[in-house]
Amino acid sequence: MTVVVTGAAGFIGRHLVRALTARGHHVVGIDRRRDVPPGATALTGDLNAVDDEASATALREADAVFHLAAFPGVRAAGPAADLRRRLDNVEAARRVLDRVPLHVPLIVTSSSSVYGGTTGSRCAEGDTPRPRGGYAASKLDLERLCARRVSHGGHVAVARPFTVAGEGQRPDMAIAMWIEAARAGVPLTILGSEDRIRDITDVNHVVIGLVRMLDRGIRATVNLGTGRGHRLGDVVAAVSSAVEREVTTVVQPAAAQEPYATLADTRRCASLLGFVPHTDLGALLRRQAAATALAAGASA
Ligand code: NAD
Repeated sequence: MTVVVTGAAGFIGRHLVRALTARGHHVVGIDRRRDVPPGATALTGDLNAVDDEASATALREADAVFHLAAFPGVRAAGPAADLRRRLDNVEAARRVLDRVPLHVPLIVTSSSSVYGGTTGSRCAEGDTPRPRGGYAASKLDLERLCARRVSHGGHVAVARPFTVAGEGQRPDMAIAMWIEAARAGVPLTILGSEDRIRDITDVNHVVIGLVRMLDRGIRATVNLGTGRGHRLGDVVAAVSSAVEREVTTVVQPAAAQEPYATLADTRRCASLLGFVPHTDLGALLRRQAAATALAAGASA
């Protein structure tokens, strides 16, 4: 089976490509970065490039497509960030959706950010979205494009991952920044409060969820989260333990787009995908820290 992965050189994309190639699929990875894992056919370029015939053909002829490419930074602000979100999160998706034939399974990564956080209850897929900030709004626009594909008879599944962690996490994400700060002996910056809560999901479980969405022919929106929250203060303690260093913290104000808490309702994931992601925070952060140390050693 030929499977196209967009965003194949990214954090989650690289894990997904490895999982799909290990299952014997022919994987075509499309990304503007040149970091698609070996074993896949890499097409380097921008999904928005009008004359990229190789990507267009791959998307037209694939047996299944995972669309992960995006500009995912929640905190980036200003007109340049807004433009990138429009181009990478919405326009690129529009081109992908236009090119993939309606009957071909298309699995699209949206985000838990569309919920805008929670004040206590778990966020379920049927809840009214309350996006805060440009990133979340762009993901909701992406979901609207997917809904339009469904209304035309298209096969589409939408994944809403909750804060993903593990080997190769994006360097702009909090845990990656905290691991780096802890190693450098500088204070870890916490936005808002140590009591803020995040549902943190192991990247390996996100990949299992995405692959099951394909295997089971899912045509629905599904949370990929654990349903269990971690205080930021506890995450910092786990970082300290993972890198075996004492750490200090500074608390800075959180921007309005930062929800106080995120928490997944996992019932649909359990019933449609047959499992619920589970995070062993200590083990997960030890894995991430070890991978970062290895990568730093390799590039030294
Ligand atoms: P990432 O930035 O590591 O990967 C995204 C990749 O897409 C990058 O390699 C980038 O070069 C590529 N890309 C972006 N726009 C492109 C374009 N126009 N043409 C070609 N390539 C393009 O991000 P990630 O953390 O791996 O996230 C993957 C997906 O999952 C994104 O859609 C993101 O919004 C979503 N998501 C991530 C998280 C998380 O915690 N990491 C949580 C929820 C949702």
